[in-house]
Parts: sequence; C-alpha cells; structure tokens
Amino acid sequence: MLVVPTNVIPPPDYTLPAGYSHLYSGKVRDLWRTPEDLLLFVASDRISAYDWVLPTPIPDKGRILTQASLWWFDQLSDICGNHVVSTDVPDAVAGRAMICRQLEMYPVECVARGYLTGSGLADYLAKGEVCGVALGPGLVDGSRLPEPIFTPATKAALGDHDENISIADVRAAVGGDTADRLRLTTLALYARAEMIARARGIILADTKFEFGHDGDGRLTLADEVLTPDSSRYWPAAGWLPGRTQPSFDKQIVRDWLTSPASGWDRGSDAPPPELPAEVVERTRARYVEVLELLTGQPLA
Ligand code: ATP
Ligand code: MG
Repeated sequence: MLVVPTNVIPPPDYTLPAGYSHLYSGKVRDLWRTPEDLLLFVASDRISAYDWVLPTPIPDKGRILTQASLWWFDQLSDICGNHVVSTDVPDAVAGRAMICRQLEMYPVECVARGYLTGSGLADYLAKGEVCGVALGPGLVDGSRLPEPIFTPATKAALGDHDENISIADVRAAVGGDTADRLRLTTLALYARAEMIARARGIILADTKFEFGHDGDGRLTLADEVLTPDSSRYWPAAGWLPGRTQPSFDKQIVRDWLTSPASGWDRGSDAPPPELPAEVVERTRARYVEVLELLTGQPLA
C-alpha cells in the first residue's frame, strides 16, 4: 500500500560543486556520489509525521541529527566498525553531512526493542509475540521487556511500511551466520546505547540499525544511528506504562497536527498544513535538548 506521497519530497535546496551527482532523496536525507566515488549523506531539515513530509522544515534539524549520529558512531566503534570516512564536506552542507564508504547493504532493518510500543505492541496484542519472540502476558504500551529483543523488519520501498519479520526470515535472506551476527551485534549496540541514555535520564525504547559489508565480509554499521528519527527516546521521568509515552522529538508536531487548531483531517488525502512558527520553535528546542542531554555537547 502506498502511503507516502513521494511527490512532496522537495529537490535539494543547495548546490554542490561539480563532480557530485545526486543519487536519491528519502523523506529526510539526500544521497550523493562524491568525485572520489564515495557516498555523501546530507541530512535536511525536513520532518515527517504520519507518513507525510511536512511542508515546514525545522531549522538545524539536519545538523542536530548528523551531530548525534557521528557522536553515537564513536560511542559504538569498539562494538562495530562503521561506514563514516570523513566530515570534510562541501561548504553548502557543512555540519549536516558525512562522507561514507559505499557498502553492500543487508536487506534487513535491524531493530532492537527494550520496551514495548508501536508495531511491537500491535503484534504482541494480536499474537502474544513479536517477530517470533514469545512474550509473557500482562505487557502494556510502554512496558519494559524482561530483556531486549531483536525484531527485524523488511526494508520497504519508499512509501511502503516496513514489515516485521522473524529471525527465520532473516536467515533465509542472508544466511544463518550473518543472521546470528546481525542479531547479536544489534543487541550489543542497543545495550550500550540504552545504558548511556539511561545515565542521562532518557529511555531508549527502541532503535533501528542498518548494516552492510564491503566485500571482506566484515559487518559494518551504516546509515544513521540513534537519531531521534531512527529511535524512540522517552524522558525517563515521565515514563508511565499503560499509555502512549510522550516522545522526545515529534510529540509537539504530532499533537498540533491532530488538534483542531491545525484544521487538518488526518484521515483525508489532503497534505498537512504549514506548521506555526511557535510549533517549529518548540520542536527545534526539543531536538536541541535531546542532542545536548545525550551527548553532553552543545549544538555546534
Ligand atoms: P526514509 O526516509 O523512510 O528513511 P529511505 O530509507 O528510502 O526512506 P534514506 O534513509 O535517506 O531514505 O535512504 C538512505 C539509503 O541508503 C537507505 O536505503 C540505506 O539502506 C542506504 N545506505 C545507508 N548507508 C549506506 C552505505 N554505506 N552504502 C550503501 N547504502 C547505504
Ligand atoms: Mg532510511
């Protein structure tokens, strides 16, 4: 089912020097080939909600997500090497881009969950299990799981929702050894990140990693990591299982979009409206806050 109106992804709003070729734009990032035949990932200020790219950007979001991702790659590098080559990027995208090695990607979204919500909760309520992992009774929205679980998903084409799959499906796709390494590495990375976040008063409820290899078979962490766009972060102080947890980043936008003030009918085909300046500013402040809380660094 096509749910993302791909036509609303605007073309890049900056110009790169000769020799860079535009490969692709997702909801949030633009992907380029560099003159050295590497990949340039540019994080835009676009924000998505309810499967729409909103018409109003959040200033500095691209820089915030890039800074967070780079910081996390460093925190995790003893567990798994990553694809980052350099942050020496063209001026037009300084601070919000990174140069990476092109990898052969494994076609699996490697999700780890320490808490139950979202599609994990939906699967649990329907079947008592998530991705083939059986969970005991009595869990509710936001429950901490007895131990973190690996809940892989397909990498859906643009516009499609990712679909949860079992570890048996991963084995069939990439082979047993690789499937085991994806699972163990995902859980080790999650454990490290969850511990770091918890020490800073933030719950890392779940997150998604993507891995590839560069021909020598070495598992390499790719894409973005542990950004608010690829992870669910909840303020630990407000955690209360049994209801939707307020999220750190998009809650302000989601709440406004679904309030009468927006005038938007989520059920219709109509695109969402422009965000008011006040919603933009509060959302930006929230992104800055989670970056600074997690990394202890100000926005550079
Ligand atoms: P969405 O906006 O929903 O995330 P998307 O996944 O199509 O949609 P991006 O995440 O911007 O959009 O796309 C980046 C693509 O680059 C993904 O397909 C990802 O798997 C891929 N990728 C990430 N790192 C590497 C790498 N080092 N080598 C090759 N491909 C990579
Ligand atoms: Mg993606």
